[in-house]
Amino acid sequence: MARIVMKFGGTSMAGTERIRRVANLVRKQAAGGNQVAVVVSAMAGETDRLVNFCREANPLYDPAEYDVVVASGEQVTSGLLALTLQSLGCDARSWLGWQLPVRTVEAHAKARVEAIDAEALTSAMEAGQIAVIPGFQGVSEDGRITTMGRGGSDTSAVAVAAAVKADRCDIYTDVDGVYTTDPRIVAKARKLKAVTYEEMLELASVGAKVLQTRSVGLAMKEGVRVQVLSSFVGDDAIPADELPGTMIVSEEEMNILVEKGEMERQHVTGIAHDKNEAKIILTRVPDKPGAVAHIFDPLAKAAINVDMIIQNVGRDKGETDVTFTVPQADLARAQALLEDKRDDIGFNRLITDSKIAKISVVGVGMKSHAGVASTMFKALADRGINIQAITTSEIKVSVLIDEDETELAVRVLHTAYGLDADDEAA
Ligand code: ASP
Ligand code: MG
Repeated sequence: MARIVMKFGGTSMAGTERIRRVANLVRKQAAGGNQVAVVVSAMAGETDRLVNFCREANPLYDPAEYDVVVASGEQVTSGLLALTLQSLGCDARSWLGWQLPVRTVEAHAKARVEAIDAEALTSAMEAGQIAVIPGFQGVSEDGRITTMGRGGSDTSAVAVAAAVKADRCDIYTDVDGVYTTDPRIVAKARKLKAVTYEEMLELASVGAKVLQTRSVGLAMKEGVRVQVLSSFVGDDAIPADELPGTMIVSEEEMNILVEKGEMERQHVTGIAHDKNEAKIILTRVPDKPGAVAHIFDPLAKAAINVDMIIQNVGRDKGETDVTFTVPQADLARAQALLEDKRDDIGFNRLITDSKIAKISVVGVGMKSHAGVASTMFKALADRGINIQAITTSEIKVSVLIDEDETELAVRVLHTAYGLDADDEAA
């Protein structure tokens, strides 16, 4: 017997028929003698619809009231799933965010889970009742409804799994696992049997949109075993324990899988792409202490995330160019802030470009292997793809290229690292 948290995304919850399929999967999991809690998203498209209502009602909406509106999508699906489970003869009840409660801190619309009081929930699960929990929602210190930012149901599920000390958190999505890269770009992309938390964190944050990044960070911190799998399995499918999804594991667990021959040791595990950044170049910035601080301070204060930064070697006359990237959605704001500080910063021209893409190769294998970056540069150079900026971390190399070359770059790199489906291990 195991204690399992199952999470279903919006596509799985969109309508009575699909909720019935979900209920069948849940019933099967419970019938195997497991204790089960289910975390659900709103029906696909519902949260967008609710966000629009808020905008129409008041473009400068109060985030606390926004939360009241958008949290309702998950309230509907959690009640419907409990009803459907009951119709299948299961003992089930819903637990809203304020009922558990899921205590959150920080701002409305992007609240962070502080703690979940799991006592009542655990007793109910031990008594054989299936707990259905709306994702995305919590309650603030002063008792108001909060939501956790778009995609937040993943984080709810991991937080519930940590709170009830679940053996596993199964996240059912409309993809059936984590792939070496986007299968819509590379037909030979392979589903990974396992990735480490660190790799998933990098892949999630650079554009492999399987899980909310925050949920992966939380799983890593709490040691929650997360499995990503498809919700589009037949009604008579085998229980999740044997479904070939992707497990997200610690590095130690990964090493054991490699030793047992269940995973191949690769230098690069996956390749991600992100077209949602924009580049800003400031020319002829004074090459002196404090100049860069003047640029990034106003951006930081406006909560604009700066990603890649390059400062060129100073040219003569003590001037230099500074290039960096920001999320495309923040480009106009960043531009306005910098223009505003033009005199303090002392730049000459401000050039922007949103037709760029960031391509990242990720893998814990590169910690102990040199040459991963040079393989990347050579493969791109061979195809005439120009690199505009580079950043690296211990397990990631990212380059900035022209957006039009995204698909080509991803394909070329997938082959260069030996990730294509019918290739031998690199
Ligand atoms: N319904 C919310 C959203 O669409 C939360 C989630 O589904 O994870 O962002
Ligand atoms: Mg999602």
